[in-house]
Formats: sequence, structure tokens, C-alpha cells
Amino acid sequence: MVKEINNQSVNKIRDFIINSCNEQVMQEVCGFIGWDSSKYIATVEKNDASDPKSFFVINPASYLMFAEDYDMLAIFHSHIVGDETPSEFDIKMSEACCIPFVIYSLNTKKFHIYEPSNSELNVKAFARLKEALK
Ligand SMILES: [Zn+2]
Repeated sequence: MVKEINNQSVNKIRDFIINSCNEQVMQEVCGFIGWDSSKYIATVEKNDASDPKSFFVINPASYLMFAEDYDMLAIFHSHIVGDETPSEFDIKMSEACCIPFVIYSLNTKKFHIYEPSNSELNVKAFARLKEALK
């Protein structure tokens, strides 16, 4: 994990994601968004992709550690080129791990949330997150 924020305010989480994504214009920034019954948490994780300009890969151990402590709400990453539309790869990954993908585009400054057909998550916390990322 590179850095993290804990906060009750989902807007603080949104700002953390936007700022973290904007800190890296040469590679995709990625991390987790979770909930622990009273507050949100977001982390920035190391992007292990061999081509981090176009893809992101997070070490599975980081995923397991986060999921042990928090309700996983989403995995986020930035798009440094193009817009916030999920790539075919993003959709496949989200469907495969049954976790929503939050994508932030540095160009359009907009979010897209891709929700897989199957996911088990804290519905209320996720709904507030969705609202904040509109
Ligand atoms: Zn993507």
C-alpha cells in the first residue's frame, strides 16, 4: 500500500481519489475503496502492470489484506488517456472478481462506475459512494 485515508465523509474519499490520480500522469493509479461499519477507507496500491500506462495490476496479497479488514466496495483506477469508459479488460476483471470498478479519467475529470452482474457488498455504503462520484 502506498497511502490511505480513513474518513466518515465519502466526499473526502472522492477528493483523495481525484488527488491521488492526478499525482501520476504517466501511469494508471489504482487502489481500493472500502467500508468498516463507521467510516470509509481508500488506499492507493502499487501498480504492478508491465505496461502501467494502459493497465493496472494489484498484488493479490494486498487485496486479501484489505478485504480481511474492510468491506470491499470497489477497486478504482485512473485512465491517463481517453475517457472514463471501462475497457474490455476492465469489464472482464470486474466481472471475474465480482467487485465494482471505479474509473477516473484525467482528461474528462469524470468517474464511471462499472457494476458487475454479481457482487456482494454493503449496499448502503456503496449507494452513498455512487452518489458522491456522480
Ligand atoms: Zn481501465
